[in-house]
Amino acid sequence: MTEAKLISALNEENLSHFSKTYVPSRLLLGPGPSNAHPEVLGALSLNPIGHLDEAYISLMSDVQQLLRYTWQCNNRMTLPMSGTGSAAMEASIANFIEEGEKILIAKKGYFGDRLVDMATRYKADVSVIEKPWGESFSYEEIKYEIETKKPAIFAIVHAETSSGVLQPLDGIGDVCRKNNCLFLVDAVTSLGALELLIDEWKIDLAYSCSQKGLSCPPGLSPFTMNKRAEEKLSSRKTKVPNWYLDLSLLNKYWGSDRVYHHTAPVNMNFAIREGLRLIANEGLENVWNRHTTNAKKLWNGLESLGMELHVSEDYRLPTLTTVKIPPAVDGDGFRNHLLRNFGIEIGNGLGELSGKVWRIGLMGFNSSEENVDRLLNLFDTELNKYSIFESSTF
Ligand code: PLP
Repeated sequence: MTEAKLISALNEENLSHFSKTYVPSRLLLGPGPSNAHPEVLGALSLNPIGHLDEAYISLMSDVQQLLRYTWQCNNRMTLPMSGTGSAAMEASIANFIEEGEKILIAKKGYFGDRLVDMATRYKADVSVIEKPWGESFSYEEIKYEIETKKPAIFAIVHAETSSGVLQPLDGIGDVCRKNNCLFLVDAVTSLGALELLIDEWKIDLAYSCSQKGLSCPPGLSPFTMNKRAEEKLSSRKTKVPNWYLDLSLLNKYWGSDRVYHHTAPVNMNFAIREGLRLIANEGLENVWNRHTTNAKKLWNGLESLGMELHVSEDYRLPTLTTVKIPPAVDGDGFRNHLLRNFGIEIGNGLGELSGKVWRIGLMGFNSSEENVDRLLNLFDTELNKYSIFESSTF
């Protein structure tokens, strides 16, 4: 055997550095991920089993059943896709758009932009309606646009994490049905945290993530589609131009046959089953109420400290609050101070709101009174240390 020449990037010194690497403990009160529930972490740390093991096959059905409850739907094709929220987002575009097909995207923040980017890559005929970051669309505006543009798909973000806006969805499903259009909803920052009724609101397609309302680490993206969407998928003239996310292939694994498609991230599925079980155990409506109550406590607390919220209360998002950075405060300095000295993460504004707002998330396991009190207390005692003018008030 010839002596192998190994690339020697590592020596004893830096190897021992790696062995000492640790992950700091954080309270994640930013836009996501949120902290995972301890019971979820317990499930995650179990030894893997095979993705075709009968015990795993039965766990897949558990996950699907619990997801249907959390989505409030009876859709056969309800599954956790492998990958973060963007994976199921891309699946929603890749499977339901054929070249030149019309999609209408209602954009009011960063994630609407991502939908536009994806739809363009899949060669859709993309129309966009837009609102400033911090506002929502009215039912009448959406109805008018669908009736005049006649798209094959209408897509909108329910909970816009970049701006902190909750988009009302009532009645849009009916408009889509009357106009022969599929209704696609991004529920990344609402599933398992805010009222979301897939069947009742006539939503045809929706996707979410594991790392927010479901109290799991990032890695899975729950997805659901109804019969109308299934019909559209089966009437495609061309192959889905994405193998990994092709729902007709995934259907063979997550539908009745349980035939191998790709190696399932089994531990993440242990985790999501536990996250979903905890939601069912608490009761979905109780979970929604907890998120709303804690968000209101945060909003009142911030306002009583003299701070201004970015979004009007009528469509303010309980899972993600955008609060204006007072003009006399070093926004990044304060965020870094919270992280380095108290282990608490809050987010900077995204895109055009960068440097203008902080984003505070209260999602899943982290939506608790105790966390709100802790954060408000720190705003009260620490914020003045980051004032650009020493004695400024805001
Ligand atoms: N849509 C919204 C509303 C989001 O907030 C996010 C991420 O936070 C995504 C889509 C993309 O999800 P992910 O980052 O999990 O891929």
